[in-house]
Amino acid sequence: MNDKIQKLLVLQRNDTEFIAVQRRMKTGPEEMVKAQENLAQAQKAFEKKAAELKEVQIAADAEEMEVKQSEAEIEKQKEKLGVVKNSKEYNIVRTAISVADKHKSEHETIELQYLEKIDAIKADLKSLEAKRDQAAAELESFKKEFMAEEKMLRGKAAELKAKRKLCTKNIDPEDLELYETALRRNHGVAMALMKDGACQGCFRQPIRNVQNQVLLNRDLIACQDCGRILYIAEQEEPVE
Ligand SMILES: [Zn+2]
Repeated sequence: MNDKIQKLLVLQRNDTEFIAVQRRMKTGPEEMVKAQENLAQAQKAFEKKAAELKEVQIAADAEEMEVKQSEAEIEKQKEKLGVVKNSKEYNIVRTAISVADKHKSEHETIELQYLEKIDAIKADLKSLEAKRDQAAAELESFKKEFMAEEKMLRGKAAELKAKRKLCTKNIDPEDLELYETALRRNHGVAMALMKDGACQGCFRQPIRNVQNQVLLNRDLIACQDCGRILYIAEQEEPVE
């Protein structure tokens, strides 16, 4: 039995859990940032559509004004018809009425097109508003969820930190140095099982001499390729 390996395996379990807790603490806010971005995007799309509606409404109002002015002009000319003195004057008034009528009809057509557009924009706006509200609700629930979880995670992290201190107390500084180096080099995984002569961390086969040293199980042997500390299966049981 290699006591050193057993101690390091306990430490590794602790570190693995600590890394998972830290990752969760980090991904929580990342998920929230994403939800915040979603909301900002939904809000922007809604505002853009609302601005478009305003613009088209102004244009429709301008057309409506043209129609009303034409109607007033027609009324005015019709009154003139009652007082014309000759056919020349009559023809002038009739022409004016005809021009105003054409003008009215043209602007009525444009106004109608704008009104149809307004209906479509309003429908879009409604769905964009629903999307925005949904994004806001999602962010809110993320916040609540994470606030509750964060407290638990902080507690867990503190607990694991304290546990690590206890673990490392009983580990030889040189061994710990080897472990820490392997941990940094391999993104939080310092230990690797050697199975069928291959390191299960990088799946390469150490030279025969190194393999034998691992099998002898007397000292800490690092994989020549990835630097992880190699151990054999029987040592997997925890010491706790
Ligand atoms: Zn390796």
